[in-house]
Amino acid sequence: MAKRDFYEILGVGKNATDDELKKAYRKLAMKYHPDRNPDSKEAEEKFKEVKEAYEILSDESKRAAYDRFGHAGVDPNAAGAGGMGGMGGAGFADAFGDIFGEIFGGGGGGGRRGGPQVYRGADLKYTLDITLEQAANGFDTEIRVPSWENCDTCKGSGAKPGTKPQTCRTCGGNGAVRMQQGFFSVQQTCPTCHGSGQEITDPCAACDGVGRIRKNKTLQVKIPAGIDDGMRIRSAGNGEPGVNGGPPGDLYVEIHLKPHPIFQRDGEDLHCELTIPFTTAALGGDIEVPTLSGKGSITIPEGTQTGKTFRLRGKGVKGVRSSYPGDLYCHVVVETPVRLTEDQKKLLRQFEASLNQGGEKHSPKSDSWTDKVKSFFS
Ligand SMILES: [Zn+2]
Ligand SMILES: [Zn+2]
Repeated sequence: MAKRDFYEILGVGKNATDDELKKAYRKLAMKYHPDRNPDSKEAEEKFKEVKEAYEILSDESKRAAYDRFGHAGVDPNAAGAGGMGGMGGAGFADAFGDIFGEIFGGGGGGGRRGGPQVYRGADLKYTLDITLEQAANGFDTEIRVPSWENCDTCKGSGAKPGTKPQTCRTCGGNGAVRMQQGFFSVQQTCPTCHGSGQEITDPCAACDGVGRIRKNKTLQVKIPAGIDDGMRIRSAGNGEPGVNGGPPGDLYVEIHLKPHPIFQRDGEDLHCELTIPFTTAALGGDIEVPTLSGKGSITIPEGTQTGKTFRLRGKGVKGVRSSYPGDLYCHVVVETPVRLTEDQKKLLRQFEASLNQGGEKHSPKSDSWTDKVKSFFS
């Protein structure tokens, strides 16, 4: 079988950084991990392939050899191969221990000798849609999340009542088997018992031999004031249960901020559009503005133009870790009046004529625009 390119296997470019490699590897290792894909030969093969690719590319000298000579550069059976000699199964496990420690928690670890393998449960994500007001003020809420309970029928053993789980015949109760994979002898979770060391010959009908039944539970969640879109709240131990007595994963509540009809949030600052009549823009006046904490007011000076921004200090949002709230920025839009009566139009024409007679410059923007156009064509 022709070997696939290591970069291709991990789905990264030739210039991938160590970080990118690690990220790609983790994602794929999680996806194809035998524990998550029981009975899938294909996943098992992919998992091994991914492991090998990462093992080579994460080592500077091996990666260099691979980049220069391809698979021959890192194949210990090829003549003049670089740097792989003498690395047995144990070394292989060591090379991955740290990564698996991070993925599956301290108690886990792929490829350890002896006893059933213990894995931390997977983390769960829950997306919570909240309003800007809820985010700004904080609130308490309840969410329904999946939980697992021991199956009543089999009392959690997974075996049909009246039968007992047997010592696994594939691994002899070890939970792991050694496999020869090219040069490496790799220790893997037993494909028959998935690491438990016990084989259920007569599965419980109520839980399909899993020993647990999925239910739902209600969790109280405290959303702190100032939380922002994309932030996550960790609820320790409320993820999926661990495997073979491993610790459960965590639940992450991810905040999603619903769009607000008036305000756009930018960190601790808020922005809004402030529409004012053209008469107020010309003459000036006080305008009421909405803020998250009620009504506010802005004094519009004479001759205010569209695009002018007014800042209301402290009328933004106070972040989760800040001592002061941000500001509210109101962006002025001057509104043109519509559906005028004949009388109103007449007044405006008189007004226009008076502007033209005065000899004063009443339109700073269009005057300078006219000047620009003139110089552009001259
Ligand atoms: Zn087994
Ligand atoms: Zn059961």
